[in-house]
Amino acid sequence: MTQQFPFLNLARANAPYMDELKQAASQVIEGGRYLHGEQTHLFEQEIAQLCQTKHCIAVSNGLDALRLIIRAYKEMGMLHAGDKVIVPGNTYVASVLAVSDNDLEPAFCDARTDTMNLDSSLIEGLMASTVKAVMPVHLYGTPCCDDTLIRLARHYGLLIIEDNAQAIGAVSDVPGINGTQVTGGLGHAAGISFYPTKNLGALGDAGAVVTNDDRLAETVRALANYGSLQRYHNIYRGLNCRLDEIQAAMLRVKLRHLPEEIIRRNLVAQAYDETIDHPLVVKPAIFDGMTQVWHQYVIRVSQRDRFRQYLADNGVGTDIHYATPPHMQPCYSQHKGQRLPVTMRIAAQAVSLPIACPITPDDARQIATIINNFQG
Ligand SMILES: *Cc1c(COP(=O)(O)O)cnc(C)c1O
Repeated sequence: MTQQFPFLNLARANAPYMDELKQAASQVIEGGRYLHGEQTHLFEQEIAQLCQTKHCIAVSNGLDALRLIIRAYKEMGMLHAGDKVIVPGNTYVASVLAVSDNDLEPAFCDARTDTMNLDSSLIEGLMASTVKAVMPVHLYGTPCCDDTLIRLARHYGLLIIEDNAQAIGAVSDVPGINGTQVTGGLGHAAGISFYPTKNLGALGDAGAVVTNDDRLAETVRALANYGSLQRYHNIYRGLNCRLDEIQAAMLRVKLRHLPEEIIRRNLVAQAYDETIDHPLVVKPAIFDGMTQVWHQYVIRVSQRDRFRQYLADNGVGTDIHYATPPHMQPCYSQHKGQRLPVTMRIAAQAVSLPIACPITPDDARQIATIINNFQG
């Protein structure tokens, strides 16, 4: 039996764009230019415009985008092996992998209960001379930026490296260091993911780096292309982290529809917010003055396993983001003793409800009614 409300079905999510995607793919296939072509170039311009940054470098995926930013700062002498980067406890492990892959150390910061994002009031307590950067992650599509974060970053000279994998198109209620409020343009540099399930998803792996910093942009561009800006002249021991021309073409089609996708997600979130009413369920906050883009709609439920089974039995698919926080993963076992109580509570209670296309506000109201009938 098929589920009435599956958590996610990518073929269905992409169905509205099928004709445009096929036509764009054909043009690339017939054009014969599969890397570093016009689609990639135009896509970079469009993403820089969206994030209100001077530069965009399209790369292979979101993790590579973050790895390349940190690696580039190392090549520029602004970060060094052994330096610490403040990262949220409540995030996807890739945020942290980008730090440790460059031989830097994560300094885990607990979450706020309301935003489920990094709690900037805890930054000061984590400060040490070795802390050189902070990585706000706009988790679930909620911008992670406030005056405390900006003030402390300025005061301590910290680089702000945004993980904007989940929040393209989101708008913060306060300006970042560049004076703009769009996620990706709030800090010194940002990594973006276009993984197929993301709000702007490719049909494969894809990512981007955005920044206003000319030198960082040039260094990332070189590092992503064997360490070379000029053919057969290698400044750095680089990597190959290029974006495929065909993915750029797919993403350009979907980017045209991103504004309506953000509106749809907001309407679904609003329908959940208005209709879910159950003593065991805590809803995610909707913040005034921000544009949240609702990559996930994450409720918190204390009897999670029973609740998810009940929803599954009633045709509603759910997921968990994320059941095991990075500091509890085997690969970060040296951090497992750290006390991150809010992060741990979110990890134990989080349930993501269906919100990807083609879920409608009416579907959300039906799902909410099922939730309200849960016998806790
Ligand atoms: C998806 C994601 C990444 C990694 O992006 P990929 O494109 O899958 O490499 C990094 N951070 C967060 C928060 C993500 O959700």
